[in-house]
Amino acid sequence: MTLSSSSDRLHIGVIGLGNMGGPMALTLLSKGMQVSGFDLSSGRCSELASQGLAIADDLTSLCQQADILLLSLPTAQIVEAVVINHILPQARSGSLVIDTSTSHPDTSRALAKALAERQIGFVDAPVSGGPKGAASGTLSMVLGGSDADIERAQPVLEAVSAKRTCIGPVGAGHITKIANNLLCAAHLLTNAEIVRLAQQAGVDPVRVLEGVSAGSGRSGISEVNFPLWVFSGQFDSGFTMQLMRKDVRLGKQLADELGLDLALLNQVAATWAASADTLADGEDFNAIVKPIIAPEHA
Ligand code: NAD
Repeated sequence: MTLSSSSDRLHIGVIGLGNMGGPMALTLLSKGMQVSGFDLSSGRCSELASQGLAIADDLTSLCQQADILLLSLPTAQIVEAVVINHILPQARSGSLVIDTSTSHPDTSRALAKALAERQIGFVDAPVSGGPKGAASGTLSMVLGGSDADIERAQPVLEAVSAKRTCIGPVGAGHITKIANNLLCAAHLLTNAEIVRLAQQAGVDPVRVLEGVSAGSGRSGISEVNFPLWVFSGQFDSGFTMQLMRKDVRLGKQLADELGLDLALLNQVAATWAASADTLADGEDFNAIVKPIIAPEHA
C-alpha cells in the first residue's frame, strides 16, 4: 500500500505489531492520528489491517514517510538491527524515534548518538500496563531523552499513556524499566512463597494476599497479578515467559557490567533462567509461581 502523508497531521509509523505494538497502533488511530504499521509477521499485519490499520509494504517506505517511528520490538538486538539497517539510512532528517521496547540502555545511547548525526531524535519510553493498557491508552511510561525530544514526542506519548515519568537522559528510561521488571520478577517469587506459607498454615491464600495488599508488603504482584491471573487460573496477561526471562537477563547483565554482585538479584536471575527447563517460552510469565504454589504438579 502507498502511504499518504497529509501536511497537517503527524504520520506515526509503528514497527512491531505484537501484543503491545498492535494495540498501541490502534489506540493512536482511534485518537485521530495518521498511523501506519509494519511487522515481519504477515499474520499480525493482516489482523491489524482488518481492524483498519494501514500496513506499509516494507520498512523502507515506512521509515521514509513517518514523522515519528514508534518501536515495539522483542529485544535490544532487534531494535539495533532495525535502527541501523532501516531507520538510520532511510528516515527523514528531523524525524523522531520512540522506543517502547524493553531494551538495554547502552543500545539506546549508541543508537541515539548515531541518529543524532542525521538530526533524528530518540526517546526511550518503555511501558508498563500490558496489552490492556496499550489498548486503552493508559500505559505507564518511563522516559529517557532530551527535553526537546520528549516535548516533540508528547502527542504520541499522551495518546498511549496515562502516566509518564521523565527519568533523565537517553537510557534512563530503560534502566528504570529493567529495575521495575527485576522487582516484578522478585515479587512473583516472594508472593508465591507467601501463598505456600498461607496454604501450609491453613489460611486462605486469597485472603492473605488481600490483607498484604492493604498493608506495607503490597506490590503490583499482590494487588493485580495474583487476583487477576494466578488465583483465577487464567494465566493470560499477554506477557510471555520468553520476554520476562529476557528482562531478567538484561537486569543481571546490567549489574554485571556495573561490577555489582547483588545477592538477591543473582538468586532471582538464577531462578528465572532455570525456569526455561520447565516453562515454555510462550507461557504466561505469571506461571513462574506454579512450581512454588503447587509443587505436587511441577
Ligand atoms: P510480541 O512478541 O508480542 O511482539 C513483537 C513483534 O515484533 C512481533 O509481532 C514480531 O513479529 C515483531 N518483530 C520482530 N522483529 C521484527 C522486525 N525486525 N521488524 C518488524 N517487526 C518485528 O512482544 P510484545 O509483548 O508486544 O512486547 C514488545 C516489547 O514490549 C518487548 O520489548 C517487551 O519486553 C515489551 N513489553 C511487553 C509487555 C507485555 O505485557 N506484553 C509489557 C511491557 C513491555
